[in-house]
Amino acid sequence: SLTLADFDPELAAAIRSEERRQEDHVELIASENYASPLVMAIQDSVFTNKYAEGYPGKRYYSGCENVDVAERLAIERVKALFDCDYANVQPHAGAQANAAVFLALTHPGDTVMGMNLAQGGHLTHGNPSNFSGRHYRIVPYGLDPQTGLIDYDEMERIALETRPRMLIGGFSAYSRYKDWARMRAIADKVGAIFWVDMAHVAGLVAAGEYPDPLPHAHVVTSTTHKTLRGPRGGIILAKGQGEAFYKQLDSAVFPGIQGGPLMHLIAAKAVAFKEALAPAFKTYQKQVVTNARAMATVLQQRGYKIVSGGTDNHMMLIDLSAKPYTGKDADAGLSNACITANKNSVPNDRRSPFVTSGLRIGTPAVTTRGFGVAECEQLAGWLCDVLDALGADSNEQVVSRVREQVVALCRRHPVYR
Ligand code: PLP
Repeated sequence: SLTLADFDPELAAAIRSEERRQEDHVELIASENYASPLVMAIQDSVFTNKYAEGYPGKRYYSGCENVDVAERLAIERVKALFDCDYANVQPHAGAQANAAVFLALTHPGDTVMGMNLAQGGHLTHGNPSNFSGRHYRIVPYGLDPQTGLIDYDEMERIALETRPRMLIGGFSAYSRYKDWARMRAIADKVGAIFWVDMAHVAGLVAAGEYPDPLPHAHVVTSTTHKTLRGPRGGIILAKGQGEAFYKQLDSAVFPGIQGGPLMHLIAAKAVAFKEALAPAFKTYQKQVVTNARAMATVLQQRGYKIVSGGTDNHMMLIDLSAKPYTGKDADAGLSNACITANKNSVPNDRRSPFVTSGLRIGTPAVTTRGFGVAECEQLAGWLCDVLDALGADSNEQVVSRVREQVVALCRRHPVYR
């Protein structure tokens, strides 16, 4: 039989290079992780060939008896994982889960309140370049400039003044706990729906390592590929809201914004949820947080400022605004040393989102490959070495020394090999 290398050598070479890159680079992008070999393998299954518009037991195509089993398993497992009574596992990705919530629960033109992208929110929470920002009147909330913490009093003041139809909790770059109960109280005061997008912290929530939004929110969305460590994808969850509400959400996903569900991905979600229900997943999530705290401590000891003063979750934002280089420079410098992170705006950043004055780092991926506190402390030290040397004469030497150390550490902790 024809191999990919025979049929398409260019693509085969790109995949091989990517395999090498993932093995030999330290991955600190907070939204990334390494799915298990089982989760990877099942995406290769014959489920990819099947059309299954509709929901288990109510499909628009015949021959769905096997994919129904997969989808029901995914639904039951994710409900058990998050102790809730509604789950939709069909959203192709996080952005689609979020689009479905907008479609189900709001009308174009409604006022919606979300966390400012420049202060830690996500594009789909109302950024002007996203459908959410284009079709809704968005009123952003953000951080207290002094503390770097969410300013709930200001959030309440804005909510009372603007009376949003929906309040969005959740973030892409915030390292502290969010006070879900306080946000629900604010939503209740103005009669708003409270929706939490827990994409970044879903794995921590499942393991009891981050405050659970489900008892407070009307609806919760998530991706499945970040801390949750499943295949790429989205989910919608809810608890105690009643069948009519759930039907609205289901109809918004299909036929609202999607056609046929990706059954091979839904099957992979089912496997990932089974993995997440096992005791080892709790141990992993606890280590993710311990590792993040260890990195934050080293960075602070070396004089780097962490936005909001530290971390309670899997990530942190390093504020480089007092440094003579940008977030983009830091990102590129680390990349030369085989450390992958991402430039990120910091609160009140004077630079554009393409340049920025910050760097976001996270520990889900390195923890999956087996790094503990010792490795994370070492890594944080190397990261500081590279940043300290940016623009200095010693830069080349430092980068090449760190690169060697990083690759050696990676080889001691292989991802898949
Ligand atoms: N929501 C949050 C909070 C995110 O951080 C992200 C992705 O980074 C998404 C949604 C979007 O997920 P996806 O990239 O799967 O569409």
